[in-house]
Amino acid sequence: MNVLVINAGSSSLKYQLFDMDTETVVAKGLCERIGIGGHLKHTPVAGGKPEFDEDVEMPTHAEAISNVIEKLTSERYGVISSLDEIGAVGHRVLHGGKKFSESVLIDDNVIDVIEECVPLGPLHNPANLMGIRACRLAIPSAPQVAVFDTAFHQTMPEYAYIYPVPYRYYEEYDLRRYGFHGTSHRYVSARAVELLDMPLEDTRVITCHLGNGSSIAAVKGGKCVDTTMGLTPLEGLPMGTRSGSIDPAVIKYLSDRAGISLGEVITILNKESGVLGVSGVSSDFRDIEAAAADGSARARLALDIFHYQTLKYIGSYIGVLGGADAIVFTAGLGENSPATRAAIIDRLGGIGIAIDKEKNNTRGKLAEITGEGSLSRIFVIPTNEELVIARDTIQKTK
Ligand code: AMP
Repeated sequence: MNVLVINAGSSSLKYQLFDMDTETVVAKGLCERIGIGGHLKHTPVAGGKPEFDEDVEMPTHAEAISNVIEKLTSERYGVISSLDEIGAVGHRVLHGGKKFSESVLIDDNVIDVIEECVPLGPLHNPANLMGIRACRLAIPSAPQVAVFDTAFHQTMPEYAYIYPVPYRYYEEYDLRRYGFHGTSHRYVSARAVELLDMPLEDTRVITCHLGNGSSIAAVKGGKCVDTTMGLTPLEGLPMGTRSGSIDPAVIKYLSDRAGISLGEVITILNKESGVLGVSGVSSDFRDIEAAAADGSARARLALDIFHYQTLKYIGSYIGVLGGADAIVFTAGLGENSPATRAAIIDRLGGIGIAIDKEKNNTRGKLAEITGEGSLSRIFVIPTNEELVIARDTIQKTK
């Protein structure tokens, strides 16, 4: 059976078509500039068909989906002969609030609940809903499944997710920590458990999803017990453009001093901060590593801050879990930057955790990089959120 996986943003829509008999991607692509023109890049993976990479008018997500279907089924660029060959559609949805602790088959009621979660994910949930609605219209015969970024973290204990503010705000406004990147943390922690070859209930795994957005999760017995992101993906580690955790009083202070609104400060913390804000170079870690190597002091400082904060969270999660059987690195930076992994793990030598220098010299593939005598095993595990979405979609439509 083929499963179409959709990741809809406000002006973009990524897709992958999986053949789930072999769990392989047969086509993938990206619609960009939806609503402000439109561009479609469609890449057939199987069958030797050519790539399509052109401007296409896409006033809304509905036209984006129509174009994707047209390309998937076209004689020249297609990989399937008709719409009937799409057995189900899986959607990445950012915020499931506290209503969804696992993936769910989409019906009108589920759409209403995702809509109710819009105040919690004001940028992403409306876009995710546009993708869902467009697919329901375009492929009415295919069941649709929602897979939430927040779901894996719903097992956190109350003391980890309740913010120490008046409790009524949790009761009245659902104000709490939710956590994100859950699909990635779920996938790589499950792979780590397989590699550990220990009874599941005894396993203590720390998963570091380090990319443009970054978060860490503490996973005990396969269940998430804490994570660094919060009500929104702004909390926790410094990221490409996000500040991560800072003193909340900074917001009013900056607003007063710079004469900008609170909303503008939040935008700055989301879009102009993190390693971009400190380095002044780029939000891309490759550029920052290159600038630091060229002698840029602020690029060096941005990296130092990122490594230091990551180290602090790993250290705190070793405390939370009472030790760590595995520490996992994943996502763009975690999978591809030996320098980042070494800068963090080398500082844990004092508590008996070490990386192997040679083995650490690996990029983008599954690898164990544990140093001799290390109390924790260290893994690089490429994440695959789309595959998890496709698998969940099959499971929920059985
Ligand atoms: P992601 O959000 O998971 O796609 O990760 C994107 C981030 O990973 C960007 O900041 C990239 O610069 C970083 N990244 C990807 N490849 C490398 C690499 N070879 N070395 C350092 N950083 C990398």
